[in-house]
Amino acid sequence: MWLTALATIAKRTGYPVVERAGWKTRGRAPMSGAKSIICHHTAGGPSGNYPSLGVVQNGRAGLPGPLANYGLGRDGTIYVIAAGRANHAGVVDTTAHSNSYAIGIEAENTGRGEKWSNAQMDAYAKLCRELCDHYGIPISQVRGHKEVARPKGRKPDPSFDMAAFRKMVKARKGTGGSSSTTTGGSSGGTYKTVAYGKTLGKWDKGDPVRDWQDFLVDQGHKLKVDGYFGDDTVKATKSYQKKVGVKADGLAGTDTWAKAKADGFTWKRKPKASAPKSDPFPLPKGHFYYTEDPRNTVHSGYWEKDRAAIRKIQKAVGANPDGRYGPNTKSKVQAKQRKLGVTADGAIGATTWSKLF
Ligand SMILES: [Zn+2]
Repeated sequence: MWLTALATIAKRTGYPVVERAGWKTRGRAPMSGAKSIICHHTAGGPSGNYPSLGVVQNGRAGLPGPLANYGLGRDGTIYVIAAGRANHAGVVDTTAHSNSYAIGIEAENTGRGEKWSNAQMDAYAKLCRELCDHYGIPISQVRGHKEVARPKGRKPDPSFDMAAFRKMVKARKGTGGSSSTTTGGSSGGTYKTVAYGKTLGKWDKGDPVRDWQDFLVDQGHKLKVDGYFGDDTVKATKSYQKKVGVKADGLAGTDTWAKAKADGFTWKRKPKASAPKSDPFPLPKGHFYYTEDPRNTVHSGYWEKDRAAIRKIQKAVGANPDGRYGPNTKSKVQAKQRKLGVTADGAIGATTWSKLF
């Protein structure tokens, strides 16, 4: 089988996806199945986002490419390289971890003490989670090359702890596939998007829930601000209600909001109602503002016509408004995205734009 869904699956992570020309037919042979995921680091150069791309796609002397199904850049960009069998695993403990059955991901990292960025780790975990959900791969079969390579000790990659990484994969919400997922510390129900102004309770999801969770965290409750009103949020809500003397029903409605407002609560993600309808996103669908790279969907300020919008973005995120989308703008954008509760990929697409303006 050729894993021709790899690009679709990658896009579910929300991170930028680069489809390398010819990926759907690239491979040593078809895959025999998708039973595991093997995580690697490239041990490549220290500069650039994905300097190992050429080697991972085309191989090197003595080892013909492709050397992985996916590449993963330092900023979380996912490169879709091969739908077929790739030379990444070598001799391993069991057939399920061999090249014919294992999806290989080569993430850029020198392997010499380089710190992994939050974006790259988040993208790594989300990608593994989406793959597990799509192909029905158990999370226990997300393995490090260093765990499966034989003889033991033959490979050191990846440089992070795999047990902790599998916990991250488990904690990420899958969006596709058929496996059941649990979020917000709850299982057995379905989350529905809730609008601003409605009473919030269990099984609600969306920005109003995020706003409420932010407040609960500010109040000292241990909680993940994920926008899913699960058991953890119910518990924290009840505890807050007890504290302020309203009925502890775990529902965040008018009475509870009134108390919360006195404690500094605001609907900070709510779109401004009175403001004239914000600026429409200036680029065609699928295009975005980002640092210069070869994709024709990237607008970095290379063209004069994009610079006004980039200056506007730079002013909004507190970067120097020079009209060029460089690394500093990108990191300021990521910081802003974290605050806005959107995927911190450092790129301004329609979603982040609409939250900003
Ligand atoms: Zn490896």
